[in-house]
Amino acid sequence: MAGETLLIGRVLSFTGSPFEVSAPEATRLDEAVLIRAGKVAAVGGADDLRALAPRAETVDLGAALVTAGFVDAHAHYPQTAIIASWGKRLVDWLNTYTFPEEMRFGDADYARAVAERYLDLTLAHGTTTVASFCTSHPESVDAFFSAAWARGLRAMAGKTCMDRNAPTALRDSAQSAYDDSLALLERWHGVDRLSYAITPRFTPTSSPEQLAALGALWSEHPDCLMQTHLSEQLDEIAWVRSLHPEARDYLDTYEAHGLLGARGLYGHAIHLEPRERHRLREVGAALIHCPTSNSFIGSGLFDMARAKTEGQRVGLATDTGGGSSFSMLRTMAAAYEIGQLSGNVLHPAQLYWLATAGSAGALHMGDRIGNIAPGMEADLIALDLASTPAIAQRAARAHDLWEALFPTLMMGDDRAITGVWVAGRRILPG
Ligand SMILES: [Zn+2]
Repeated sequence: MAGETLLIGRVLSFTGSPFEVSAPEATRLDEAVLIRAGKVAAVGGADDLRALAPRAETVDLGAALVTAGFVDAHAHYPQTAIIASWGKRLVDWLNTYTFPEEMRFGDADYARAVAERYLDLTLAHGTTTVASFCTSHPESVDAFFSAAWARGLRAMAGKTCMDRNAPTALRDSAQSAYDDSLALLERWHGVDRLSYAITPRFTPTSSPEQLAALGALWSEHPDCLMQTHLSEQLDEIAWVRSLHPEARDYLDTYEAHGLLGARGLYGHAIHLEPRERHRLREVGAALIHCPTSNSFIGSGLFDMARAKTEGQRVGLATDTGGGSSFSMLRTMAAAYEIGQLSGNVLHPAQLYWLATAGSAGALHMGDRIGNIAPGMEADLIALDLASTPAIAQRAARAHDLWEALFPTLMMGDDRAITGVWVAGRRILPG
């Protein structure tokens, strides 16, 4: 059949969660994956799939590991140009670096240039889906979705709403946040592979009226995601408490305005109160772990073991440019390091699951992306597990797949990504 591609390599997929069963039980390794019409048609032995699709274009990837593309569940594409900026913690970071840069995104040409650069960088790092904050300018949302659409990506984004404690040039209002978000939602939600995410930046920069307006919008469009930040730094939590003495806790400032739900994505969620943990789990909301950001900005240690033991939905993310890397490999390494500092060792299978199937589940897309199985969208990557001399010499000693993969998780970068397919179409190398 025309339009079939057969990838031969070491095909890694998940059959369960490695947080619930052992790594061997949660994974399978096959020799080939057959792509048809943008989706995975079959996974299995190379000879079997050749027999199944004798006219498929065959791509022999040798020893490369073939997996689902990475899913970055929380990022700020407008901060691309300020990644790795020195010396600030959260609120100073926003005032010194983020807000001045975000002011530039009212210029549609600038927004478009950064959106395209950002998506090209993330694709080169093997990330095939991103949930991104934009700026308060509708142009910044149009720029992101246009660039994602042109690349055929599954992507989520929304206008970042702020009507207080931000520069005048970036402020909207409760009404304009609602109106702009609605117009963007109607323009982009469900177009090709794109989804709109209602996006209040966080409580300190949204008045109760704005939070309520966005809560109303979410109740009118409950199939949209809602993304925001929660309990990233202790100073921030104290600020929220001073702004909202009536609230039971930080999460309550969202909950009281209709902004707590299963399709809610709460970035960071490090310093949580027992009631917050209980409510997040009860509604099935997602905690998005951003480990490079948490160490880079000095926010604290996310307790992954506790979150998973509690049954929380957890995704993994770069939080660029607060995070210090575009790479989900580096992000997995940071998650491992934060686990070590918390006294919990994360298995490579758990790290890889978080960066793919776990994040896809956080985005309520686990039936479409984040894994390789028949019927799923063919967003795939090929990894070279010997991409640098330092990694190669360690991987050569490995006794099993996980030992061979771990050096790439700890030391790998975009050089490890040797192939990227989006909806079955090879994007890299072009
Ligand atoms: Zn963020």
